[in-house]
Amino acid sequence: MRLNKRTCTGCGYCVLICPYDALKTDGWAEVIPENCTDCNLCVYACPNDCFIPDTPLKPYRPRPANDYEVSIIGSGIGGLMAGVALAQAGYRVAVFEKLSFPGGRYTEISYKDAVVTTGAWTNLGPKSHIGRFLAEVGIDLEYVSLNDVGLAEQYTIQFPDGRRYDSLFDMLASPARKAWLKAILTGKRQLEQATSTSLDMISAADYIAEFSDDDDLRAAVDAIAATASGLSSQVMPAGEYIQITLDGRTAGQDFAMPVGGVRSIIKALVTALRQAGGALFVRSPVAEICVEDNQATGIRLADGRQIHSRFVLHNGGPRAFIQLVGSQNLPVDYVRRLVQLKGVECAALFGATREPLFTQAPITMTPQCQRVVGVFSPTLLDPTLSKAGLHLFDAFFPTYSDDRSAELDLALADMRALFPHFEATLEWSVPMFFTGMWPGTESGQTFGQTGQNRLDPVTPVENCFLVGMDVKGSGVAGDLIPVGVRQLLQHFAPKQ
Ligand SMILES: Cc1cc2nc3c(=O)[nH]c(=O)nc-3n(C[C@H](O)[C@H](O)[C@H](O)COP(=O)(O)OP(=O)(O)OC[C@H]3O[C@@H](n4cnc5c(N)ncnc54)[C@H](O)[C@@H]3O)c2cc1C
Ligand code: SF4
Ligand code: SF4
Repeated sequence: MRLNKRTCTGCGYCVLICPYDALKTDGWAEVIPENCTDCNLCVYACPNDCFIPDTPLKPYRPRPANDYEVSIIGSGIGGLMAGVALAQAGYRVAVFEKLSFPGGRYTEISYKDAVVTTGAWTNLGPKSHIGRFLAEVGIDLEYVSLNDVGLAEQYTIQFPDGRRYDSLFDMLASPARKAWLKAILTGKRQLEQATSTSLDMISAADYIAEFSDDDDLRAAVDAIAATASGLSSQVMPAGEYIQITLDGRTAGQDFAMPVGGVRSIIKALVTALRQAGGALFVRSPVAEICVEDNQATGIRLADGRQIHSRFVLHNGGPRAFIQLVGSQNLPVDYVRRLVQLKGVECAALFGATREPLFTQAPITMTPQCQRVVGVFSPTLLDPTLSKAGLHLFDAFFPTYSDDRSAELDLALADMRALFPHFEATLEWSVPMFFTGMWPGTESGQTFGQTGQNRLDPVTPVENCFLVGMDVKGSGVAGDLIPVGVRQLLQHFAPKQ
């Protein structure tokens, strides 16, 4: 197996999927030729088509029908949620997924007897947007909550200088605590009164500074904003930070993750899709959205087959949308808007340790580090996610340069400063970068791109819609996706 390093964006999926330990990564994947059996599994796990097989690929030709009422490009959580709702409403739906697994950046891959996320840590539990959407489509998911495991807080706070606090309140002296509460309550009232415009114009950092000059508070707000969105509090509008804080407080002690990891959500959605008569085809990249007279008429798969469809939903991100529709079929202003969206590049170091790194809460916020802003331990909620005796961690960090191995070194230095036993107790780790053509998100939660300013599901091409993370909503990353899905569904009347 050969690998085109130039197109590698560092996601690490190939390392996770390879059954023979024949791949490694320091931000750029590399084949270890002596281990490679030419099984070709990595070919179908790579979002960027980096692999050049030495042996012919096994013929694989799923058999979709020639037409569906709704074709959905991509089986991310957004594509699947829309697919389930529309199939249940009586539409003939098919979802086409390029990779060998459904779920995009919201699922897990089994690796070394553990469950490793492709991006998302978790939703906030049954009270989250995702939790409520799943309940509405009849999915009864089993969660493990803070209450279930006897923990009191969603997150603790730890500084690289060794200071550790059980909660944000525990860290703050009384005046700063009052100031923070006042900031949140004032912001909440403004959001409720729909006078949020001013909160869209001021950064979370500047907004908090109006209430308090406590350096630790500002550093903690920065880490929380970055953990939720990959963006610093300097570029996140205050309204978005307040919404994220309110969502976290709504989840409260019910903060939870699905038993079995976030892939339990994806498995449940795929089952619900099929039960409602919908179809999912993996390893089925879509090469074109067919358009006639400004109206979507279907899709063309990469192998040339055409699928007629009355409606086409695109879940593959704004840039790929331009490619698939063709800029000639889109108004110049719309293309410009999509091209100008500011995305988020970020990374995670996922791994397993023999001793837990922390035990007080599932998340440790890590202000004032060089890179790492928050670390999640999924096994604190569901120990079955790894084999006995190992504890999983997922350290999230924004990236600030194109030198991924240098960014990784800084994150590793943070981990050593935060957890002095880190090196000694580390069993394995995989760095996962979300950059280039496979970024954290293509329109981050920054000025001009939050809430109602995000993309509308309706596109200029008739009967062609966007669904997924870049579409309308406010709040924690993936958890805002159902907000956009709900808006999309308003354009589809239930069938008799
Ligand atoms: C490191 C990281 C941590 C995160 N943590 C959290 C978290 O804790 N909580 C949270 O709520 N969110 C989190 N998120 C965000 C969350 O992962 C995303 O918002 C969410 O997964 C996006 O879902 P989506 O439906 O937009 O589709 P994606 O996950 O982007 O999936 C799109 C799918 O479309 C497919 N596709 C693309 N083009 C084509 C084509 N031409 N043909 C066929 N298929 C195609 C892709 O292969 C992919 O499967 C995190 C993200 C990252 C990167
Ligand atoms: S072809 Fe198979 S063994 Fe070789 S690197 Fe890819 S997944 Fe690993
Ligand atoms: S983009 Fe991801 S899957 Fe593809 S080669 Fe690079 S690390 Fe592997």
